[in-house]
Amino acid sequence: MNYFFSLTTALLFFILPFSHNQKRSENSKENLIDKKVKALIYKMTLEEKVGQMTQVSLQVVTKKRGTNSQRFEPDYDKLKEAIVKYHVGSILNVYDIALSSGQWDSLITEIQDIATKETRLKIPVLYGIDAIHGANYTKDATIFPQPINIAATWNRDLVNKEGEITSFEVKACGIPWNFYPVLNMGRNPLWSRLWETYGEDTYMAQQMGISYIEGAQGNDPSAKNKLAVCLKHYVGYGFPLNGKDRTPAWIPERMMKEYFLPPFEAGIKAGALTVMVNSSEVNGIPAHSDYHLLTEVLKKEYGFKGFVVSDWADIKNLYERDRVASSEKEAVKMAVMAGVDMSMVPLDYSFYNLLLQLAKEGSVPMSRIDDAVSRILRVKFLTGIFDNPYPDTTMKSMVADSESTKINLQAARESLVLVKNQNNLLPLKKNIKVLVTGPAANMLSCLNSGWTITWQGDDEAAYPKNKNTVLEAIEQKIGKRNVSYVEGSSFDTDINSDSAVNAAKNVDAIIIVLGEKAYCETPGNIDDLTLDEAQLSLASKLIKTGKPIILVMLEGRPRVISKIESEAGAILLGFLPGMEGGNAIADVLFGDTNPSGKLPITYPRYPNDIVHYDYKPMENFGTNTFNPQWNIGYGLSYTTFAYSNLTFDKSRINKNDSLNVSVTVKNTGNLPGKEVVQLYISDLYGSVSRPNKQLKGFEKIYLNPEESKIVKFVITQNDLSFIGRNNKRIVEPGEFKVTIDKLSRGFTLN
Ligand code: BGC
Repeated sequence: MNYFFSLTTALLFFILPFSHNQKRSENSKENLIDKKVKALIYKMTLEEKVGQMTQVSLQVVTKKRGTNSQRFEPDYDKLKEAIVKYHVGSILNVYDIALSSGQWDSLITEIQDIATKETRLKIPVLYGIDAIHGANYTKDATIFPQPINIAATWNRDLVNKEGEITSFEVKACGIPWNFYPVLNMGRNPLWSRLWETYGEDTYMAQQMGISYIEGAQGNDPSAKNKLAVCLKHYVGYGFPLNGKDRTPAWIPERMMKEYFLPPFEAGIKAGALTVMVNSSEVNGIPAHSDYHLLTEVLKKEYGFKGFVVSDWADIKNLYERDRVASSEKEAVKMAVMAGVDMSMVPLDYSFYNLLLQLAKEGSVPMSRIDDAVSRILRVKFLTGIFDNPYPDTTMKSMVADSESTKINLQAARESLVLVKNQNNLLPLKKNIKVLVTGPAANMLSCLNSGWTITWQGDDEAAYPKNKNTVLEAIEQKIGKRNVSYVEGSSFDTDINSDSAVNAAKNVDAIIIVLGEKAYCETPGNIDDLTLDEAQLSLASKLIKTGKPIILVMLEGRPRVISKIESEAGAILLGFLPGMEGGNAIADVLFGDTNPSGKLPITYPRYPNDIVHYDYKPMENFGTNTFNPQWNIGYGLSYTTFAYSNLTFDKSRINKNDSLNVSVTVKNTGNLPGKEVVQLYISDLYGSVSRPNKQLKGFEKIYLNPEESKIVKFVITQNDLSFIGRNNKRIVEPGEFKVTIDKLSRGFTLN
C-alpha cells in the first residue's frame, strides 16, 4: 500500500469536511448578522440612523480634562445628550492624554450603560482609538516600536504578535476598534507621518499589513485578542508633492494602481472591517469627496463590506479648507454620496443636523443612509459588542505582562539597523568608559514620538518612570561610573558642546544620540531633511577628538547626515524603537544582541536627491546616478552570511506558471544571527518603463555559526505583472532577472 497516499487521503477526509464546515459556519454567521442588521434597520427612525453615522470626540462628552492631575471625568449630561439625544454611533480618542485602565473601564461602562439601558434600541457605542504602536493611549500598557521600525524587522511573525497583543490590551479597556494599520506608502521622506508607515515599498506594506490584520483582527474580531482594524488613510496620503502633511498629492491612475492602491486591496482581502479616508487631496479631488475611489474602487471593485469613516473634521474641510463645497451642508452631501459612512465630526453635532435635513429633503436618498448604517451595524455585530459591550476586567492582569514586554523588546532589537561598523568597532566591550551625549540620549519621547500617551508624544513627564532611555540603559549595562553624560546640544541649539568635548578626554568611546524630538502629523512638518546644524556640529566637534564615534539616530524620517557619516566609526539607525528601545540599543551596542534590522526605506544622502530603490532606468542613466546614503534592505550583522546556489525549477515559464526559486544561505561568522533573505525581480524590457528592481519576497531566518538553510520562494504571475499603458494590470512575456543578495539569474516568460 502506498503509505503516502493513504496518509494524504486520510488527512483530506479529515481536513476537507472541517474547512467546508468552517466556511459554512462562517457563512451562516454572516447570514445571521445580515438578518439582525436588517431587522434593526427596519425599526430605526431617521434620527437614529443619522446618529449611527455620527462620531464625536471624547472632548465633547467630558468635563475638564485635568491633564496634570489626571483627574479625568466624563460628563454624564453631555454623554446622555450624545447617546440619547443624538444617537451617536461612535466616540473616539482621549482628551489629550492616556487614561489608566481603570479610567477606561469606568468611561466605557458609563457609555455603554447609557447606550444599552437608556436608548430605545439599545445599540452599543463603537469606541475607536489610535493604538498604532501598542495600546499607546492606556497608561502602562505595552508600547511597541513605531511602524517604520516594525517594518525594519522584516519579521512577519513579530508584526502578527504585535497586532495580537495590541488588540488584547486595547480590548482589555473595552475598546473594540483601532484606527490602524496605516497602509500609506512612505515615499516622501520629508513627510511627518513617514514613521507611521511600513516604509516606501508596496510589497512590504502589503505583507506587513496582512500580518498585522491577521494578528489584530483575525477571523473573529469579537475574540479577546482581536478587534476591528481600520486601514488608513485611503488613499495616496503618503505622497504629498511638497512633503508637508495634508497637502496635495498628484498621482496619475497608473501610479495609483501600481504603488498606492495595492496595500489597501490586500488589506480588504485580509478582511479589514473599516477604512479611514485620506485627509488630503489627490489630483485636485479631496479624498472625502471622491466617489470613484471610495465607492467605485473600494466598495464595488474590491467588494469592501465594512464601513468608511472620515478623518478628523474632514467633511467640514471640504467647505472650510478645500472649498469644493460652498456650504457645510453641501460638504456633508458630497461626502456621504461619495461613500463616507461615518463622520468623525468630531467636535459638534453639525453633521447630524445637516444630514438629517438633507435626508428629509430627499437630497441624500434613504438607500444611501441605510447602506451606511447597515455597514456600521454589521461591524458592531461582528465585534461582539451587541452581546457584551463592557470591558472584561479579568484581562487586566495580562496587560503589559512579562511575555508582552519580552516580545516588545525583541521587536525593538530586531528593528535596529546597523549601517556602518568600521573595523568592527561594535560591539563595544563592557569594561570600557564611554561618553553619552546628544539631545536624544536621555529622553523616552525620542524613542517613541507621536501617538504615545499624548497625540504629539512629547510630554516627557508623562512617560513611565520604569522605562530606560538610551543613557539609562547604557548605565545599567556597564555601570554608572563608567558612563559620563553631557547633553551637548538640544535638537536645534548648542547647549554645552565644549563640555562634551572636554568629557571625551577621559573615555574610550563616544556614543552620540541624535535625531528628532517627538511629533505627530502636521505639527511635525519640516523645511529641510538635513539634520539640524547644532546636532551636526556637536558630532563634528566630537569627531575631531579622534575618539571612536558611535552615532545612534532616533528619528521618524531619514534626516540627512552625510556631513558626519564618513567620520563616524559606527552608525546605528534606531528610528523610533518604542518603550524598550533604550534597552534594545544598549543590547546591540554592547553585543548582547546581534542586530538584524534592515532598512525599509532608501536613506537619502542629499536632501533633494530623493530617488527610491525601485527607480526607473533614466534615474540611473548617463549623468544621473542612484546614490543614496543607504539602500533599502541594507543592514549589517555581527556575523556574516554567504549566499550560494540560486536555483530555479525551470528557466522558461509559460503564462499562468509560477517559478520556484531557492537559495542557500550560510552563517559564515562566529555568532548566531538572523538574516533577511530578500528576493527582487527586474523586468528587463517593458511597454511601460520598468523599475530597476522590485521586492517580491523576503524571509527572516535564524542561523547558528556554520549552519546553512535553503530558502524557497515562489514567483507568481502576479509578481511579474504591472499596470500597462491602458492602466490595466498586465503581464508581458520577456526576460526577467531575480536577485538575491549578490546573486542573480535570469528567466524567460513565454
Ligand atoms: C489622523 C488619523 C487619526 C484621527 C483620530 C487624525 O488627525 O489623521 O490618523 O486616526 O486623527 O485621532
